[in-house]
Amino acid sequence: MSAQIIDGKEFAAKVRAQVATHVARLKEENGITPGLAVVLVGEDPASQVYVRSKGKMTVEVGMKSVEHRLEADTSEEDLLNLINKLNEDATIHGILVQLPLPGHMNEDLVINAIDPAKDVDGFHILNVGLLGTGQKSMVPCTPLGCLMMLREHLGPLAGKDAVIIGRSNIVGKPMAQLLLGDSCTVTICHSKTNDLKSVLQGADIVVAAVGRPEMVPGDWIKPGATVIDVGINRIERGGKNRLVGDVDFASASQVAGAITPVPGGVGPMTIACLLANTLTACCRANDIQEPAGLTP
Ligand code: NAD
Repeated sequence: MSAQIIDGKEFAAKVRAQVATHVARLKEENGITPGLAVVLVGEDPASQVYVRSKGKMTVEVGMKSVEHRLEADTSEEDLLNLINKLNEDATIHGILVQLPLPGHMNEDLVINAIDPAKDVDGFHILNVGLLGTGQKSMVPCTPLGCLMMLREHLGPLAGKDAVIIGRSNIVGKPMAQLLLGDSCTVTICHSKTNDLKSVLQGADIVVAAVGRPEMVPGDWIKPGATVIDVGINRIERGGKNRLVGDVDFASASQVAGAITPVPGGVGPMTIACLLANTLTACCRANDIQEPAGLTP
C-alpha cells in the first residue's frame, strides 16, 4: 500500500480534546455549560446507536446532554412543540433532530422550526443560504469534518481540483460550498453523471458520498490524489458483516496519496464536529469569542 491513511479516529480525538478544553474554560470563566439536545423519533436501530454515542461523547467533553425519545407515532405538532420549547431554553445551545423522521412528518418543516442559531446540524434553510453565500453559518458536521481533514493533510487547498461524488443536501452540496470557499475548482458528480471515471482522472481531491459499496475502484483515481470516503455501507463478506466505504479501499490505497478508511475515517469526525458546532453556537449565543479552527 502506498497511500497514507488519514486517521479520522485520532484526529477526532484531538478535536474533542480541543472542545473539552474550551468547555472547561467557559465553565470556569463564564459560568456557562454548553448544552446539546438530541431528539429521536421512533426506534430506527441505526439512529438509536448514533444518538447513544452522541450523548456519551457530549458528556465526555463536559457539556450538558439532553435526549428526547419520542414514539414513532408522535404527531408532528407535538414534535414542533418540543422544538419550540428547546428553542426557548437558554441552557440548550444546540438542537439536533435525528433523521430520518417517520413518514408522516415533513422533515423540511421540522428542521426549519429549529432556531437557526441552535441548528448544529446546519440543515436549516437559513444556514444553507448563509453557507452558500460565504457568510458565517452553522455548517453541516460531516462536510465540516472532511474539510478539517483535508486542510490538516494538504494545507491550503486553493487551486486544487476537487471532485465530489453525490449531491445530497447533507454531504455533497455543503461539501462543494466549503471547498469553493477554500478556492478549489469543484465538480459535483451524481447518479446521472456520464463518465465518472474520466472526471475523477483529473481530481486532486475526491470526496465520495454515495452509499454504494466500493463503487470507486483504484484505477479511477489520479495517482497521488487525496481520497475522503464518506460512504458507510454494511455488506456481508466471508460470512461476516462488515462496514465498507464507497471507495474500493484495497485498490484505491495503491494509487491515492492519502485515503480515509471506513470505519475510522469520516464517521468519528462527524460527531466531533457536532460537539464543535455546539460549542460554537454557545459562544455565539453568549457573545464570547469562538475558538479558532473549529469553524471554516
Ligand atoms: P444520499 O442517498 O442522500 O445521496 C447519494 C448521492 O449519490 C445522490 O446525490 C446520488 O445522485 C449519488 N449517486 C447515486 N448513485 C450514483 C452513481 N452510480 N454515481 C454517482 N453518484 C451516484 O446519501 P447521503 O446522505 O449523501 O450519504 C451518502 C453516503 O454517506 C451514505 O453511505 C451514508 O451512509 C454516508 N454518510 C456518512 C456519514 C458519516 O458520518 N460518515 C454522514 C452522512 C452520510
